Amino acid sequence: MNNLVIAVDGPAGAGKSTIAKIVAKKLNINYIDTGAMYRAITYKCLKNNIDINNEDEIIKIAKDTDIDFRDNNIYLDGQIVNEEIRTMEVSNNVSNVAKVKEVRYLMVDVQREIGKRNSVILDGRDIGSYVFPNAHYKFFLVATPHERGTRRHKELTEKGYEVSLDEIINDIIKRDEIDSNREFAPLVKANDAIEIDTTGKSIDAVVDSVLSKINI
Ligand code: C5P
Repeated sequence: MNNLVIAVDGPAGAGKSTIAKIVAKKLNINYIDTGAMYRAITYKCLKNNIDINNEDEIIKIAKDTDIDFRDNNIYLDGQIVNEEIRTMEVSNNVSNVAKVKEVRYLMVDVQREIGKRNSVILDGRDIGSYVFPNAHYKFFLVATPHERGTRRHKELTEKGYEVSLDEIINDIIKRDEIDSNREFAPLVKANDAIEIDTTGKSIDAVVDSVLSKINI
């Protein structure tokens, strides 16, 4: 592996994407939001009225879909869907789509391909444990459910979505549960990952502790 690969994993709302985006800019490398890929497939399934428990239908859709992540944009069949994938409807269903092994194979192929071509920082659930087990640096970000829910709530209300804090906390707890317990490539801290608890920490403080571990 010649390109630099940095893995940032952890549960929903732990600050992974915020931190990874800033680190990418500082190191002048690419940022890949792998959660956005699973969200995009989920969005397409919902749009096509697919029963979210019907794995065969989900696989059919996933095989027939082109997903890419470039310049901080998620592309679904060539269209940018940055906003469409952030709804509560997508959040409530994404973990059921992401637990389908064949869907993961397809997304992981895209992620590995990008990592082969460029230096990248990827945020997700299984990057250090499965997608890039030989990543140069692995981080695992955690925070209390209340803090994670509060951050997501702020993010969504600022964008104009009307959603209660309770609803968000329930969503992230439910997603973590499905993500951690799925059979294939679950949410797990890799043995060699550096854990950072972001509870009560500023964005700058977390970015600094990540950068302090990276020697390039
Ligand atoms: O990161 P984000 O919260 O947007 O991820 C949405 C969902 O996508 C997660 O709850 C999980 O079900 C799935 N996901 C995954 N593997 C990844 C990234 C995300 O299963 N590497």
